[in-house]
This record gives sequence, structure tokens and C-alpha cells, in this order.
Amino acid sequence: MNEMHAVVKMEPGTGAEYTTRPIPEVRDDEVLIKVLSTSICGSDLHLYNWDEWSEQRVQVPRIMGHEMAGEVVEVGKAVRSFKVGDYVSAETHIYCGYCYACRHGRTEVCMNLQIIGFDRDGAFAEYVSLPERVIWKNDPGIPREWASIQEPLGNAVDTVLAENPAGKTVLVTGCGPVGLLAIGVARATGATTIFATDINEYRLELALKMGANFILNPKKVNVVEYVLDATHGAGVELLLEMSGSVSALRDGLRLVTPGGAVSLLGLFPNREVSLDLNNDVILKGIRVHGITGRKIFSTWFKTSRLLASGKLDLDPVITHRFPMAEFEKGLQLMREGLCGKILLLPPSAA
Ligand code: ZN
Repeated sequence: MNEMHAVVKMEPGTGAEYTTRPIPEVRDDEVLIKVLSTSICGSDLHLYNWDEWSEQRVQVPRIMGHEMAGEVVEVGKAVRSFKVGDYVSAETHIYCGYCYACRHGRTEVCMNLQIIGFDRDGAFAEYVSLPERVIWKNDPGIPREWASIQEPLGNAVDTVLAENPAGKTVLVTGCGPVGLLAIGVARATGATTIFATDINEYRLELALKMGANFILNPKKVNVVEYVLDATHGAGVELLLEMSGSVSALRDGLRLVTPGGAVSLLGLFPNREVSLDLNNDVILKGIRVHGITGRKIFSTWFKTSRLLASGKLDLDPVITHRFPMAEFEKGLQLMREGLCGKILLLPPSAA
């Protein structure tokens, strides 16, 4: 009984396997968590596909997955703030605590970052052992399905709250899971009008459920003309760029009102992007925020308070649930874009 089921990247190249692995050993500073729910991130699909970044970074075999909720079943000798039975989730970014960024309180951009499910074994398993310093204690009132998507919700919280959205007009470009969560967060934190764009009609319908006022498909509508018309020429005060699409970024920047702001979360596949910086950023006095990870742990406090407030309903975003053994069904839906957030449930919870 020292074995558990897990989704494992076994070897270089496309693919992963649902197989058995030893239950992890618990080091002195770690807690062993019995996994109750997990969810799939876009980065898991990249690892499954074995993209260039995975090839350079990941050593196999590696248990995949990082978004999760679970229950503490064992604590290491040096663990001080958790006990058996605690209901927890985990920050994916294990920071070193000693580098220049960490010593400036910017642990989310630690220069020696270890990422759960990539640099060490992850959560698509029945058990995962993780350092105490990245464990987050959940309010027992938060459903486990919501708790397991708090990590991407934290990305959305930081994207929206890089500026104060209250009373403002917001454009969200890209309605993948984090874009959808950002719409919910913008709505809950007082944005007045929310425009959402995507080329995927399924996701635009979810955007409406999350609180968008206007959903626009750039393949069917001229987004710049539509938004300028709807805002009497003013444009939007906040652009939340979640798509990684160059045309969405260009249209979005054109629509930001002078003195407005932009949060960039979507990663651009070709990395280099040409923009009219003079007219679309500098001469309009626009503030630009790059968003990565979550502030550890101030974002988690904000996120859990938002969940407790009752102002944010995550149910519309969670569109599918699969037993962990059927993880490939989830990955296939993500490739097709016919989903919001997909949960993978371990055998005990499926
Ligand atoms: Zn560091």
C-alpha cells in the first residue's frame, strides 16, 4: 500500500500516462496532502505536448499538475503551522527566499523559482508532498472545486487589481479560463462596463455568464469601432490582455483611453511583437503591468476574501469533471477550446 495512482510524464515527446508511483516521502519541512480535486492548466497541455520550454526544463519521469485542493495527512518534523486534517491548496511557485527578487519581497518573480508539476512532482496524483511555505489553508466553507482553481483565480485577481477597477470600463481580450475568471473578478470589484472578446463562441457565452456586458467576436465585429461607439469615443480605462494574440493586443491598446492602464497576462507564442508604442502607449500616458504568478501570499488573502464575500460565482467557469484516469479527454477538450476550467478527480473523489 505504498503506491498511488498519478498522471506521469514518462519520457520526452508527446504524451503522459496514468500509472502508479510510490507515495512521496515527507521531508522535515513538508506536508503530505491527500488530493481531493485538481484542475488542468494550459501549461499542463504544453508539458503533455513537450514544447520547447518543457524540453529544456523538465526532467522525466515527472508527476504533472499543480492546481489543487486537498487534506493534510502527515506533517514533517519541522512543520509549524499545519496539522493533519487541514484543508489546503498550494501556491505553485516555490520561491527560494534568498535571491535579489525574494529579498525585495517579490517572491512571485524569484530568480530560482521551482514550479510544482514541472521542476518537482505535482498534484495529478492521490498524494503530493510540498514545502510548508507554499501551503495555503482554505476556509472550510469554500467548496473543494472552487478551492482547486484558486491558483488561476489568483492570476485573474492580480491582472484585474493591478489597478483599481471600481467604476471603470474594462476590456478583457481573451476568454480562456483565466480571462473568464478575470471577468468575474472585475465584476465583483466594481467595474461598471465589461467588454469581452474572443474568437471562440462557446467561451463568449461563458463570458456573459461571468458578468460581461458585451461579448464581441473579432471575426464578426470590428471591435475598435464597436467599443468606441458604445463608449461615445472614450474607449476603455483598463485593458486586461489574456489572449496572447497580437491583433487583440493592438486593438486593445488602441482602445485604452489616455491615462488608462493595461495588464498583460497572455503570453505571446512568437514572443516578439511590433506595436505603435508612440501613439498607443507613450503619448497616451498609459501604465503597463506585466502579470506573472500571484503575489505570495497577499493575492491569496484577496482571493479567499473574494470567494467568501459571495460576490464571485465560479460555477459557470467549471464546465467539465473527469476521473484522473481520463485526463486525456480533458486535454483534448482544451485543444478544441470547448471548455472553461476542467477538473480532474483522483480515484477516491471521482
Ligand atoms: Zn528567490
